[in-house]
Amino acid sequence: MEKIFNNTAIAFALKSDSELEKAYFLFKMIANEPLVRIGTMVTNFALTVHLPVEGLIRATVFDHFCGGVNENDCLAVVDKMFSKGVSSVLDYSVEGKEEEEQFDAALKMTLKTIDFAKERHAIPFAVFKPTGLGRFELYEKISDHQSLTPEEKEEWDRVVARFDLVCHEAYQKDVGLLIDAEESWMQNATDELIVQMMRKYNKTKPIVYNTLQMYRKDRFDYLKNLHLQAKKEGFFIGIKLVRGAYMEKENERAEEKGYPTPICSSKEATDLNYNSVLHYIIEHLDTMALFAGTHNEESAYYLIELMHQKRIKENDKRIWFGQLYGMSDHISFNLAAYGYNVIKYVPFGPVKDVMPYLIRRAEENTSVAGQTSRELNLIKVERKRRKEN
Ligand SMILES: Cc1cc2nc3c(=O)[nH]c(=O)nc-3n(C[C@H](O)[C@H](O)[C@H](O)COP(=O)(O)OP(=O)(O)OC[C@H]3O[C@@H](n4cnc5c(N)ncnc54)[C@H](O)[C@@H]3O)c2cc1C
Repeated sequence: MEKIFNNTAIAFALKSDSELEKAYFLFKMIANEPLVRIGTMVTNFALTVHLPVEGLIRATVFDHFCGGVNENDCLAVVDKMFSKGVSSVLDYSVEGKEEEEQFDAALKMTLKTIDFAKERHAIPFAVFKPTGLGRFELYEKISDHQSLTPEEKEEWDRVVARFDLVCHEAYQKDVGLLIDAEESWMQNATDELIVQMMRKYNKTKPIVYNTLQMYRKDRFDYLKNLHLQAKKEGFFIGIKLVRGAYMEKENERAEEKGYPTPICSSKEATDLNYNSVLHYIIEHLDTMALFAGTHNEESAYYLIELMHQKRIKENDKRIWFGQLYGMSDHISFNLAAYGYNVIKYVPFGPVKDVMPYLIRRAEENTSVAGQTSRELNLIKVERKRRKEN
């Protein structure tokens, strides 16, 4: 297959020379694992004791990985990317909140992003995180089949009502709705809730998308069972397919509590699992839609190949490729140049509240995690190309 992702001129067309230099220094910096570790500690401390570090964070990691502090800030980025055929999904990335008012605020923000999506061709989806709308421990208790106190039952009813409101709004406004996946020990409750929503709002087409983390050994079987259920009951399945972002946490907890880890035994096993489900969904597009959230070039090429084999048009609306803003532009912009449906997750929120998200990005981009060398190399290639032209 032609290696379309190697075209750095297309990948970085939106970056001025100075923006390219900035990206170069940023990726060089976060390739350094001890620096990221120490930087994370110092930054968290500085934010806790209210040192004025927000400006520094904004000028470095924040502006690279986020669209802004609020939804309106993001529109400049959204329009710019759409000029090259890359769509956006606005991702309110505030994490770790535990209060009812905060859940209601996240609900309001999610509803607003659905409105934004309704009004803009460049924003075909909305997204939310289950723990943005309810307490982690409550999901965990339900996932573990523990009984709830009367207060907790009422609390859960409010979570269900929030889910329903968001899904109903997306359905009414005909906007695809992605629901993120989190830790496995809270996911059963989310899965059940999402199936209820699919049953209600995916009757004629996929509106609600659940996320499958393919580092989990059980997810392919889960999908096959869901498929049987969907066929029997007559609803469509929307799937966001990712590898999974909480591997260390999953393995550590399994070891600590003495149960077998739910995570695949190797990276290769996860890759195989991911690609097998890509194949499965492409085989069943009559009842399924796919949002392939990945920075893995092999998986992206594999999906292209599957589409070619099945003679599926590049812009078939049942298939989307997704990457995170600030990462893997070589995949996003080259796919868009070839007419594929591509979306960037554009995170936004107050600087200190998106820190957990930024830390995850910095950590997965260290040289240890391996992603950066690819980003850095491509930026180097493009710098050289520009100097020679
Ligand atoms: C648009 C988008 C949306 C996303 N949404 C979510 C979400 O809702 N929930 C979520 O959890 N993550 C989400 N992610 C993050 C995603 O799960 C991955 O962490 C990230 O994309 C890196 O995986 P990759 O497919 O890009 O490929 P790669 O960089 O090739 O794969 C890295 C991944 O492989 C797996 N892996 C690495 N080493 C091993 C090992 N030794 N054994 C087993 N598996 C291993 C891990 O999952 C690791 O993250 C999203 C990513 C994108 C691009």
